[in-house]
Amino acid sequence: MKRIIVAIDGLSSCGKSTLAKGLAKSLHYAYLDTGAMYRAVTLYFIDNQVDYNDPAAVEDALKHIEIHFERVEGQNRTFLNGVDVERKIREMRVSEHVSPVSTISAVRRAMVMQQQAMGARRSLVADGRDIGTVVFPDAELKIFLTADADVRTSRRHLELAAKGIDAEWDEIKKNLEERDRIDSNRADSPLRKADDAVVIDNTLLSEEQQLEKALALASDRMKV
Ligand code: C5P
Repeated sequence: MKRIIVAIDGLSSCGKSTLAKGLAKSLHYAYLDTGAMYRAVTLYFIDNQVDYNDPAAVEDALKHIEIHFERVEGQNRTFLNGVDVERKIREMRVSEHVSPVSTISAVRRAMVMQQQAMGARRSLVADGRDIGTVVFPDAELKIFLTADADVRTSRRHLELAAKGIDAEWDEIKKNLEERDRIDSNRADSPLRKADDAVVIDNTLLSEEQQLEKALALASDRMKV
C-alpha cells in the first residue's frame, strides 16, 4: 500500500472536518485541521490586540505564536502557546475575523510551512481552502466538497450548540457566506477547486455515504 496525502478543500461548514476525521480514522492516518491554525492565529491577534492591518505588528506577533495539535481523550485538540484553545477558536468572535486574517500573506507563509512539514512523511488527511492547490499540490487524492448554504448553516448551528456555543442561525449563515466570499476572492491562495480534484456534493449524503465514497477513492490511489 502506498502512503498518500488526502487533500480536502471546500466552502465553510460543508463537512470537510467530519470527512477528514473519518478518513484519517479508517486509514490510520494523521489528521491536519488547517482552519484551526488560522483560527488560533486570529485568537492570538484578538487577545493580544494585534492590529492585523499593520504588517510590522503581524510579523512580530507571528514570532510569538506556536501552534500544535494533541490527542486528548480521543479528540484532536489545538494548542496555542501551550494552552488548549480548541473551544475558544470556534467562537463567533474568532469566526468574524478569521477570513480577513487569512488574507495576509505573511500569515499564510508561516502556516503553509508548518503544514508542509507535517505532511513530509505523507499518511495524512488535511482539510482547508488551499490544500490541493498550494499546500500539497502533489496530493494523490484531492476532494472538493460542496453543500447547500442552508444545510451548511444548520450543520454549523448544531455543531456550535453541541459545544455549548450560543449563536443565532441568521448570524451563522451571514458569517459562512461572508467567509466564503473573502476566501474565494483573496489574492493569495484563494479557495478554488484544483483541476484534478474530485467534487463531492454532500447536501443529500449522510456522513457514512460521503465517507464510503471518499474511502473508495482513497483505496484506489493507495494501490501501488
Ligand atoms: O475550516 P474553518 O472553517 O475552521 O476555517 C476558518 C477560516 O480559516 C476559513 O474561513 C478561511 O478564512 C481560513 N482558512 C484558510 N486556509 C485554509 C484553512 C482555513 O484561509 N487552508
